[in-house]
Amino acid sequence: MSILNADLHCHSVVSDGTLTPEELAARAAANGVELWSLTDHDEIAGQHRAAAAARSHGMKYLTGTEISVTFAGHTVHIVGLGFDADDPEMKQGLLATRGGRGARAREMAEGLARVGIKDAYEGALKYVGNPELISRTHFARFLVDSGVCQDTSEVFRRFLVEGKPGYVSHRWAALGPAIRWITRAGGIAVIAHPARYHFTANEEYALFTEFKAHGGKGVEVVVGSHTAAEYVTYAETAREFGLAASRGSDFHSPDESHTDLGQLPYLPGTLTPVWELLADRIR
Ligand code: AMP
Ligand code: MN
Ligand code: MN
Ligand code: MN
Repeated sequence: MSILNADLHCHSVVSDGTLTPEELAARAAANGVELWSLTDHDEIAGQHRAAAAARSHGMKYLTGTEISVTFAGHTVHIVGLGFDADDPEMKQGLLATRGGRGARAREMAEGLARVGIKDAYEGALKYVGNPELISRTHFARFLVDSGVCQDTSEVFRRFLVEGKPGYVSHRWAALGPAIRWITRAGGIAVIAHPARYHFTANEEYALFTEFKAHGGKGVEVVVGSHTAAEYVTYAETAREFGLAASRGSDFHSPDESHTDLGQLPYLPGTLTPVWELLADRIR
């Protein structure tokens, strides 16, 4: 059944969102979301709160996270859904993935200092819930609020993407282990927003092929950062690779996100929705 208002991708203050899990649940419910998942970057500390908040609003819930992975020299995001949020191996894997964000952030601040932006590490830190999860998003908020840029997309364009002064390349988890943590904890792995990677056709083919070989099951098709044309492209890719399809806003903040929770088009009816693979994991 594809006609379900499922939103299986968003972020809270536990990672780089600006709302608490409870505020997100209330907003999702108000927008008509029926099945929800909170997918903080590299951290599952918000899962029990999110599940309880979902229940209090009468929404179904799937556990979630979005793991940072390095594949062929690029950063790829893998969403995990429906895993046991108390799984020790998963928690350990995510802890290791988070390690290094602090040192990277200090290097980013050094890069920004070289172009005259002082104390960006301390500045970004003020926006962070958990310092282990300091991200480019927090630097972007600091640079907007301190008047250097108009909005976060300008910050990314000018300072935080490859070749710009605040960009520091980083080695995240490997693809195989990330999929294994999710799968062994009873969940399924999903390739997040595939249109957002700067892959050649061959690299993208390799990503999908290796993802399948490691036991990956799904791909995001209808997601906040995809255009309508990209829904069509990745619906086709899902069919080609025999993957289930997911839907999610990737909502971070009422001030920054152009797609609100639960507001995207439904998944195409010809695809298998990821929640059909997770019927016994829905709470
Ligand atoms: P990090 O994990 O520290 O590399 O930060 C990645 C995060 O930055 C993503 O999860 C998004 O929330 C955000 N982001 C990446 N690219 C952009 C962009 N072009 N505009 C706004 N936010 C972005
Ligand atoms: Mn983010
Ligand atoms: Mn992502
Ligand atoms: Mn995301």
